[in-house]
Amino acid sequence: MMMTALKQAHLRISRLDRTVITAVVLLSSVFPVELFPNTPPAQKGLDGQYSGKQGQVLVVKVQGEEQATEVKGTFLKRTIPFFREFRPGEPAGYIGLLGIDMQDDPGTYELAVEVKQGEQAKQLSFNVLVAKEKFAVEHLKLPKEKVDLDEKAVSRWKAEQEQVKQALEENSRLKLWHSNFVEPVNGKRTGIFGSVRIMNGQPRNPHNGEDIGAPMGADVAATNDGIVRITVDHIFSGRGVFVDHGLGFYSMYFHLSEILVQDGDLVTAGQIIGKVGATGRATGPHLHWGVKLNGARVNPYSLLDLPFKNGAVPANSIATPIPDTTSVPEAVPVKQ
Ligand SMILES: [Zn+2]
Repeated sequence: MMMTALKQAHLRISRLDRTVITAVVLLSSVFPVELFPNTPPAQKGLDGQYSGKQGQVLVVKVQGEEQATEVKGTFLKRTIPFFREFRPGEPAGYIGLLGIDMQDDPGTYELAVEVKQGEQAKQLSFNVLVAKEKFAVEHLKLPKEKVDLDEKAVSRWKAEQEQVKQALEENSRLKLWHSNFVEPVNGKRTGIFGSVRIMNGQPRNPHNGEDIGAPMGADVAATNDGIVRITVDHIFSGRGVFVDHGLGFYSMYFHLSEILVQDGDLVTAGQIIGKVGATGRATGPHLHWGVKLNGARVNPYSLLDLPFKNGAVPANSIATPIPDTTSVPEAVPVKQ
């Protein structure tokens, strides 16, 4: 009985397939232009290929001697502004910083770049291969009240998220940063960027920055030039500073004991903007350093690796991550 029904269904499908195929073939012979208006679309990624892991920053270059009106990329619905870059002995061109979010699914995606020159626009297409990063898994035990939030805490957290979202909508359209990135604090890097967090047995949002262990009151420096977009005192991040470096690049510094800047201040690379603390949800003094690049949460240490200064990699290269089980829990509740 069952078999017969399945067989009939199968037959119906293949009959339908045949009908559709026949219809397409017939139609295309009658209306070839309407059904296939163009030659098949060009293969994606004709202009080059990039690859990187989740949480990494890629430097994408578009060559061109002429001054363009605007060069803009789109990658996974995020907009990547490009800027003109001159380097001695290298062909002129435009550079974009492409952030791979720590939760972008592995795979190959298109980076479409539009180069506008007055009325004319040229389209370029790159393939970007996103590879999986092996993030740590952290099991954390915390006092119950720090993990299970009451209604009041949840609504406070939501309001704070909204406040940050609104503040970060306003990007400086000027590129304020330069090639010399500064590590914000001298301390022990815990290597837990992107780690999956299980708090008291419950899964939480992954850790969206890097924690650097440092003594209470240690100086915290801005990683580059920028404008202080907002300073906060929030339930999880504690006292925090958000610096806008322009073109969609933000850096953030959390759990501070003291904030030494105000909203709207201009800061320079290496300027002391606060002191290490343990405010918010933190079990001990440390700096949570986060970076957002056009909406993507990237490993802040990938900035120190960027090959900018006359094509040279800064001496301040990436450290080997040290897994730390005593790390610092300030992750926010799972997205709803
Ligand atoms: Zn952290």
